[in-house]
Amino acid sequence: MATKRILTGMRPTGALHLGHYVGALKQWLALQDEYECFFLIADVQALTTHVDRPRVIEESVREVVLDWLGVGLDPTKPNVCFVLQSSLPELTELTAYFTMLVPFTKMEHNPTIRAELKDLKKSATAGFMIYPISQAADILLFSPYPPEKSDKLLVPVGEDQVPHLEETNQIARRFNALYGKTFLECKPEVGEIGRLPGVDGKSKMSKSLGNAIQLKDGPDTVSKLVSKMFTDPKKLHRDDPGHPQRCPVYLYHRAFSTSQMFRGRATKCKTGRLGCVECKKELADILNNFLEPIRTRRAEAEKAPLDTYLRQGTEKAREIGQNMMKVIRHAMHLDYPSVKSSLTKGG
Ligand code: ATP
Ligand code: MG
Repeated sequence: MATKRILTGMRPTGALHLGHYVGALKQWLALQDEYECFFLIADVQALTTHVDRPRVIEESVREVVLDWLGVGLDPTKPNVCFVLQSSLPELTELTAYFTMLVPFTKMEHNPTIRAELKDLKKSATAGFMIYPISQAADILLFSPYPPEKSDKLLVPVGEDQVPHLEETNQIARRFNALYGKTFLECKPEVGEIGRLPGVDGKSKMSKSLGNAIQLKDGPDTVSKLVSKMFTDPKKLHRDDPGHPQRCPVYLYHRAFSTSQMFRGRATKCKTGRLGCVECKKELADILNNFLEPIRTRRAEAEKAPLDTYLRQGTEKAREIGQNMMKVIRHAMHLDYPSVKSSLTKGG
């Protein structure tokens, strides 16, 4: 039977936000019944920007698990694993091997790395510059083996991750060419809205940029954040013609309204029959209705055995990872124990 697997993850650098929902979690939820899912809490990757804030990472592991449970991911299903990256030393080993397959200058040409470098206040560490390689290891360690045509390795992510997945597939191809067909190429799965801007309307909504509406934010916080949102600067009065395609509030409506509620909004804005204040008020109500069941489930999840979910998921992932590492070491002629024993036998 074909193996259909998902490997994807999030960095524990804070609580999750609406961007995570539209960019990733919505797709994860749609696929969790059909695929074997490995949802990674990327705490080692979090160190690329938070090496001086270990407490934030530790606390955020819990936040991320609660948010995942809040949106409805279900680790009690046998096919759904929550995995803690730092508990899989195989990933560190595979990252080291993969660094040898990528030209040194390649990383600084990656468009996502370039954009993130601009946001980094201090200079980037070597670990930061090579995180797309460690991400390739995260993904390819879970490549179904032996790779069959009908197998799938899907990576549901936001748009900013696509260059990293191209890099992953280049590494897979290079490895396969050098050492024989070992890895399947992964397939990015980007949702309808691959990049949700923050409430500042400029940058991507991000945990680190302070421009996020968090999934756990209460109704008043959500309403306040929405009321301050950036809108079309040319629409100063209700009857001014607006430009919804350039307005982040309109994009949020597209992401979170039902099609019935969304219909006609652009025309009303363009023809001066909908003011920004009213439009934002409606958005705040839509977001609060959307977030209410998430908040309730998240509060209930506080009582759930979070550690057990993480431990069980990580153990299952580790078993797969350990087996795959044997295959990889063998392909690379690095399985020394057998070499050593044959040397002693041969005399
Ligand atoms: P940080 O600022 O710490 O990097 P982040 O908010 O970028 O945090 P990540 O953990 O790096 O979050 O991203 C996890 C997943 O969520 C990735 O698949 C990413 O593409 C997706 N994602 C994050 N922010 C957004 C967004 N604003 N729009 C769409 N997808 C997003
Ligand atoms: Mg990020």
